[in-house]
Amino acid sequence: MTDARPALSVVAPCFNEEGVLPEFLRRVTAVLDGIGGTAEIVLVDDGSRDGTWKVMTEEAGRDKRVVAVRLMRNHGHQLALTAGLTVCRGERILIIDADLQDPPELLPAMLALMDGIDGAGGADVVYGRRRAREGESLFKRATAAAFYRLIGRMTDVEIPLDAGDFRLVTRRVLDVLLAMPERHRFIRGMVAWIGGRQVAIPYDRKPRAAGESKYPLGKMIRFAADAITAFSVVPLMASMTIGWIMALVGFGFTVYSIIGWLLGLNLPGWTSLMAGMGILGGMQFLMLGIIGAYLGRLYDQSKGRPLFMIREIVGGDR
Ligand code: UDP
Ligand code: MG
Repeated sequence: MTDARPALSVVAPCFNEEGVLPEFLRRVTAVLDGIGGTAEIVLVDDGSRDGTWKVMTEEAGRDKRVVAVRLMRNHGHQLALTAGLTVCRGERILIIDADLQDPPELLPAMLALMDGIDGAGGADVVYGRRRAREGESLFKRATAAAFYRLIGRMTDVEIPLDAGDFRLVTRRVLDVLLAMPERHRFIRGMVAWIGGRQVAIPYDRKPRAAGESKYPLGKMIRFAADAITAFSVVPLMASMTIGWIMALVGFGFTVYSIIGWLLGLNLPGWTSLMAGMGILGGMQFLMLGIIGAYLGRLYDQSKGRPLFMIREIVGGDR
């Protein structure tokens, strides 16, 4: 191993992808040959049960640029990707799915955007925005559209609509990403949270080259739950809102029953019962809300994200 970093790393998580891997590597290496310069291709075997690992090691033996990483078991897409991002050493890193839904041929255009065009400054992140999603079911497209819009409303972070993890990032951005220690990782959101100059590049998402989606409905729901809870405390804060409303209703009810009692309209015993229930119910919801507020802050703190990220410093003696 040398210390020199390759100019480019291509990182792809693979789960039961023996059918696409050879074609994937053929297309990626063709693109890399066209670009020139040093490069590596980091393939992560996420506990596959087919011949994925065998294909990977054969390819690694054939092409020195290929680095095969094998995880102990299936960790899921986001963690497999994190493993690959930790292992890779490139100055610029392309995150791509192994199933060829994201075209590797877009890389030169992404690199150009990162370099900056027409004297404009370069980008820190160039992310693919899906223009068309061929070969994906209406259900998948509809749920994806709803999901990206929902999460957009629930968080302050501007997570781009209709973008997956297909993106080119600088080493600086990657280092910040890897410094975020949270366990439930929603990588596209985390990259958006980091900020810097993030530029979209539109592309047509192709159907899978072979095999089937490794994201069945169950995994999709878990992924969405991870994304929302990682970027929003809105659900937690909801108890606060409900608490205030319930406290107001409870108080109103108390006043109402006392007035009834003063006017002699109430049955004996009803007033104290209703007043007690109103006050207690309202107080309980309010207290839950207060606990929610603290829990939300505790949660934010426990994520341990960096407080700020410096993009560059000019001048001075640093
Ligand atoms: N993947 C993975 N581990 C998993 C599920 C998926 O590494 O547990 C990989 C998979 O091999 C592919 C990428 O993540 O390279 C995206 O998965 P897939 O194409 O099945 O998702 P979809 O495009 O259908 O959303
Ligand atoms: Mg796919």
